[in-house]
Amino acid sequence: MKKVELLAPAKDLNKALIALRYGADAVYVGGLEYSLRSRASNFSLQDIKTLVDFAHYYRKKVYVTVNMVFHDDDLKGIEDYIKTLEMMRVDALIIESLALMALIKKIAPKLECHLSTQLSTTNSLACEELTKWGADRIVLAREVDMLSIEVIAQRVKVPLEVFIHGGMCANYSGRCTLSNRMTNRDANRGGCAHSCRWNYDVYKGKERVSLKELPFTMSSFDLRATPFIERMIKAGVASLKIEGRMKSDHYIAQVTRTYRKMIDEVEMGNHLDESRIAYYNSELDKAENRPSSTGFLALEKTSELFGAKQSFVKHEYVAMVKDFDLSCGYALVEVRNKFAKGDVLEVFGPDLNNERFVVEKMYDEDGQEIEVANRPKALLKIKLPFLVKPYYMMRKVF
Ligand code: SF4
Repeated sequence: MKKVELLAPAKDLNKALIALRYGADAVYVGGLEYSLRSRASNFSLQDIKTLVDFAHYYRKKVYVTVNMVFHDDDLKGIEDYIKTLEMMRVDALIIESLALMALIKKIAPKLECHLSTQLSTTNSLACEELTKWGADRIVLAREVDMLSIEVIAQRVKVPLEVFIHGGMCANYSGRCTLSNRMTNRDANRGGCAHSCRWNYDVYKGKERVSLKELPFTMSSFDLRATPFIERMIKAGVASLKIEGRMKSDHYIAQVTRTYRKMIDEVEMGNHLDESRIAYYNSELDKAENRPSSTGFLALEKTSELFGAKQSFVKHEYVAMVKDFDLSCGYALVEVRNKFAKGDVLEVFGPDLNNERFVVEKMYDEDGQEIEVANRPKALLKIKLPFLVKPYYMMRKVF
């Protein structure tokens, strides 16, 4: 069985390092320009360079999204940008334009071209043609079901990338003007305002229509492909992709770590039966605040994938470990959210599986004992009954 790549998103350098530490084989990031999440990206060119050096040291990869729908004005500086990314030894660009692919092949031939899901590639004929034009990898549309993924994987040689987790578009990815119309923010040029997730009243003329469930929303359930991971790996999919460049450190760590463990189990020859999948789903629940489904993978009725209103939080990320003093058993942590003496905290890390403890003693930076930690970014010392390492995370269990 060929090893599959776990590909995670990152909005900034810190999140990218977390994703790599928590088990991603590769990360994809957007620069300050030319990306669909450019409004939210915090990646300067220097950050991209730092990330590439770190990732390559650990034999991991960095892909940069250059996937906005380019209008003529947007092309300014694009050649220099591409050449710079090649010079920095970025591994691939994720692009949605065949014209851009032709340009990249001409001016930066060391860069791989991964064709984005925005191209809505749903069949093997399209994969084969795109390969002839130079595609080094194809990200299948999220709208392809599992059986079709298996058929395509069998028929084509080009490596396939498949989304396994995260937000879904109410429209075919990248073919939406809802945000443009509602907010004048172009979803295809990095400005999606998630207008599909808003609540709407419905009117006929001036009359408000009485619907069974108001307000109305087109908000789609998030994708969670846990029951299909084993089939994807066995089908020979090259890369399993997590969506969520806007998500928190805790989300990135928990989701990446969970799929890492699933992939490792399958690659060790284990079968992921219902109880294992239920376990992994319970782990993902710790990072989620939106309802999820298996999307189009199981050919579910699309009507059942809309109307995602409820949100739920079972765990709250409260602190990141910065250091641990073995001699006294105290951890230095950076506060993220409020917690207090007596709270039960769960600690996890790349190599630590959910150890719990009750907060008994904690001290602020001046050495004063405190009852409540409520200042974000404050550094505290907490007594712990087990060893922890930098980048481990603590969450409150409700
Ligand atoms: S508004 Fe919704 S459907 Fe449109 S691009 Fe944004 S997330 Fe997708």
